[in-house]
Amino acid sequence: MDHETRRSIVFIGSECYPFVKTGGLGDVMYALPKALADMNCDVKVILPRYHCIPAKYQEKMVYRGSFDMDLCEDGRSYYVGIMEYVWDGVVYDFIDNDEFFSYGNPYTNLVDDIPKFCYFSKAALAALNYMDWIPDIIHCHDWQASLVPVMLRTLFGGTALSNSRSILTIHNLRFQGVYNIPTIRYWTNLPDYVFNVDVFKTGYEDANMLKAGLAYADIITTVSETYAGEIQTEFYGDGLDAHIRHHSGKLRGIVNGIDVVQWDPDNDPKLSTAYNIKNVLNNKKENKKALQEELGLEVDEDKFVIGLISRLTNQKGLDLVNEVLPGLIDGNTQVVVLGTGDSYYEESFRYFETQYKGSVCSCIMYDEGRAHRIYAGADALLVPSLFEPCGLTQLIAMRYGTVPIVRETGGLKDTVEPYNMFTNEGNGFTFDRYECGLLYDAINRAKTLYFTDRSDWDEMVKRDMAKDVSWSASAEKYRELYMELKPAFE
Ligand code: ADP
Repeated sequence: MDHETRRSIVFIGSECYPFVKTGGLGDVMYALPKALADMNCDVKVILPRYHCIPAKYQEKMVYRGSFDMDLCEDGRSYYVGIMEYVWDGVVYDFIDNDEFFSYGNPYTNLVDDIPKFCYFSKAALAALNYMDWIPDIIHCHDWQASLVPVMLRTLFGGTALSNSRSILTIHNLRFQGVYNIPTIRYWTNLPDYVFNVDVFKTGYEDANMLKAGLAYADIITTVSETYAGEIQTEFYGDGLDAHIRHHSGKLRGIVNGIDVVQWDPDNDPKLSTAYNIKNVLNNKKENKKALQEELGLEVDEDKFVIGLISRLTNQKGLDLVNEVLPGLIDGNTQVVVLGTGDSYYEESFRYFETQYKGSVCSCIMYDEGRAHRIYAGADALLVPSLFEPCGLTQLIAMRYGTVPIVRETGGLKDTVEPYNMFTNEGNGFTFDRYECGLLYDAINRAKTLYFTDRSDWDEMVKRDMAKDVSWSASAEKYRELYMELKPAFE
């Protein structure tokens, strides 16, 4: 491999669209490798072969080999199968083991997930050695793959892989993979010296898998510049702020993009009427009416339709939404919610639907097709998050000419330029402090523009559709980062 011109990269993570996706990580694991392959990088993605991957993909996987791997402290070893699927210039290798991957959707709870991802991290590295595919860069994602940088420099220290460099990307610092030290020591058989406060140890007797990965990775990235700064503060640091400040010299923020082929209103089989920047003003109305009809809302193209597509957790600012929602229902406004998550929020949104029949629709489900139709049919999309590492829904919304209303945090701050009524610039409506009055005000500013100055609103819709939300700029930044990282021992 010519190290000056080309890089080989393996992505290791726990989910990847279209095989298995629960959130933004799944989107990134699909779109970034594809964008890098288009930039002449040699890319492989390693994933668990979960049973919940649809049969149409399982059937296309080809057996690539298998071996037994030592894993635990007491010498217990496990089968590692490799099933391969090549698609769009990217090689996907699925780690096969029924004991770990036959249940869950794909996650269950930490009792099962800790051993599952200890096994997966080691199996991914062992599979690379087995296939004799030694990448320049091992790019790991979130806590589920965060043992990889640690194992690379310890258990795999003397192997061919030791020349590879590692990058760990934080997609969400909230999830860290914390469990008691004896359990993680048992399932990894890592040496004693890593169970200290600089690497694994946290609290009195717990081990934190993400913390260890951050200590050992050659580079840490996170998914926006603002979030890279925020996670060094106590409020956003989730207990790791001091650790991250200590390692801040190797921390970078690179904002996510979206796959603009997967998300293209002009070529989206899930929509009733295709549209582009030239015909958006007419054709988006058709999608709005189709959405209203699909959801049993009053069909009226003049209503202001607000969408919310989200995991229903407190991260997403839903406490604020619960506070302001009754005040939004004024006869001219409709609210559409799509999401699953905490039962508290599921119930409150169900309650609002019953209370405001015809104006509020709460779809408590995960439905890819409906998500597309909401992006296309809504006028505005709400993302009032408490914290948001990057956020993809506001990017997809802009691509679909739907104006985002967001809190100025993390990637939301980096991707949505606030509307300036004097210069008629900007992409959406924003507010800063986490307060329901400020969210209410931001939504009302959006409604005021929509109802009183439609031509300025329409210009913003077109500006949003014209904005570059693709991966091209950010994938180039990752490629530059890969080029900067020279082999460990040259
Ligand atoms: P997070 O990763 O924190 O969940 P992101 O904004 O980064 O949030 O990514 C969310 C992704 O998941 C988007 O592609 C969004 O469209 C999708 N999504 C979230 N909830 C649902 C749902 N209930 N049905 C369909 N897609 C959903």
